[in-house]
Amino acid sequence: MKKLVLLGSTGSIGTQTLEVVDFLAGEWEVIGLTANKNIDLLEEQARKYRPSYLVVMYESLARELEYRLADQRVNILLGLEGLEYLAGLPEADLVINALVGAVGLRPTVAALKAGNKVGLANKESLVIGGELINKYLEENDDFILPIDSEHNALFQILSGHHRDEIKEIILTASGGPFLNLPREGLKDVSVEEALNHPNWNMGCRISIDSATLMNKGLEVIEAHWLFKQPYDKIRVVIHPESIIHSMVEFIDKSIMAELGVADMRIPIQHVLTYPERKWGIGKSLNLLELGKLTFRAPDLEKFPALGLAYAAGREGGSLSVVLNAANEIAVEGFLNKKIPFTDIPRIVEKTMDLHETVAHPDLDEIYEIDKWARRMAEEVLVGCF
Ligand code: MG
Repeated sequence: MKKLVLLGSTGSIGTQTLEVVDFLAGEWEVIGLTANKNIDLLEEQARKYRPSYLVVMYESLARELEYRLADQRVNILLGLEGLEYLAGLPEADLVINALVGAVGLRPTVAALKAGNKVGLANKESLVIGGELINKYLEENDDFILPIDSEHNALFQILSGHHRDEIKEIILTASGGPFLNLPREGLKDVSVEEALNHPNWNMGCRISIDSATLMNKGLEVIEAHWLFKQPYDKIRVVIHPESIIHSMVEFIDKSIMAELGVADMRIPIQHVLTYPERKWGIGKSLNLLELGKLTFRAPDLEKFPALGLAYAAGREGGSLSVVLNAANEIAVEGFLNKKIPFTDIPRIVEKTMDLHETVAHPDLDEIYEIDKWARRMAEEVLVGCF
């Protein structure tokens, strides 16, 4: 059996990954699982999969888990160091990084440094550390297996093609729950409405990011680093049905698309069985039932977050670190009902304005700038700027 380390096993991608592991019975042995603070679910997973290692982010929870799992042979590690240790386990055949947020970069780097294959669902790794990650990948002549549905689609479309053959990458976006809401209505939307994504079943943070289109903006930056394309060759098209997960137009004007039902278990399975294909866990797409697919341009005035992400990506260096950190703080502020929905991009923009870009930040600088940006965004949020 191949050995899997799954970082972020209690989240949306984590639990769906374990569903696919169950479905592919006998192929994967789970050797490491991690949770932020959901130790009830982590305990349940530990009893089912019997991994050698668990990581939680808080000491008191680690002690509690040790007590509960006293009858199990398992090493319980703590925090970021624990995540890095698991990511770098020499016996791992695949490390799936399904962590949420900037915290995911260090474990991605640890996995790549150890020469481990990475299945990446943590988009922040590339958004804040894309240049560093590509350096490690180039050194090892390695590549990442993307799990984000759009990038997994692009990865599938592009395999066997040289990047010089790409005319344009077309990232599709559902448009989120407020696609058809008039712009003036956005400032009054509730947390519950913003969390109600029309097509995908996702975690809290990414649901809000989908509603602001920041998620698509982060994905533009992700695509830039994964497929090494300039930003003017990465276009976003709103496709409310979420059936086409992304497209590539090649220089001969041929366009290729990847289609399927909106089910994250499909790209997860693609990564778990790569380079083979196996009978899938997902449902087949019924084109006749669907009838038609629609497309429109994104409204950048209504959803300024997308433009901010392009601006950060184009500027390069540390500005995307600030974009991401300020967004995490602003989204938290919205979820805690401290600010209206429309303040999310405003806080991000203001924090970006306060930053002086560092051209090629190293790992420590990235996290310093991340911390700085969080502090500044908090101050912007409470009205200091
Ligand atoms: Mg996506």
